[in-house]
Amino acid sequence: MAADPACFTPLAPHTYISGLRVVVAGGDRSPHPVTTGQVDADAVHAYLYGQCHALAQAISEATGWEMAALATVDCCCVVPYVAPCRAAPVGANVRACQPEHVMAVRPSDGAFVDITGARPADCVPPGYRAVPMTAALAAHIATNWAWAAPNVEVARTFVEPLLNSLSAPGSTVRAPDVGVWARPATEEG
Ligand SMILES: [Zn+2]
Repeated sequence: MAADPACFTPLAPHTYISGLRVVVAGGDRSPHPVTTGQVDADAVHAYLYGQCHALAQAISEATGWEMAALATVDCCCVVPYVAPCRAAPVGANVRACQPEHVMAVRPSDGAFVDITGARPADCVPPGYRAVPMTAALAAHIATNWAWAAPNVEVARTFVEPLLNSLSAPGSTVRAPDVGVWARPATEEG
């Protein structure tokens, strides 16, 4: 039954409800509880291990910033000289098996923005490279089992608090050594 417009008013784009305890899916489909709008340890965990692409999309929507992914340099599904990688190309010299984490790119300095803060564009971890988000990569992330279904609605509640926190001096990276940013990293973002 369609919603009655008289009693259902969609939230305006920049309106959200803070402080709700909700659950989003991790990369392994485990439940990741977060509190909407609160950039805390739960949020760092959820947006590193399963919902990074939802947050990047929410930031991109709100700011117009581009997205990028951290992709492994090597392709782990290749057996040299025996079995070539069969993963689909999702960008220039990038196959679907390689991207692991999605960030927004701050245009003023090229910094990668995710739930852990803003990192200079040159701080890509060893074994990774940053690749631009392409339509093919976005389509892959949206449909492949290796990526949790993005909960962009919940992710939107973190955008404003996150970006506000990044404008304060000295708080650029709040969780320096976690997830894909730690070495070595193996979990999907
Ligand atoms: Zn591969």
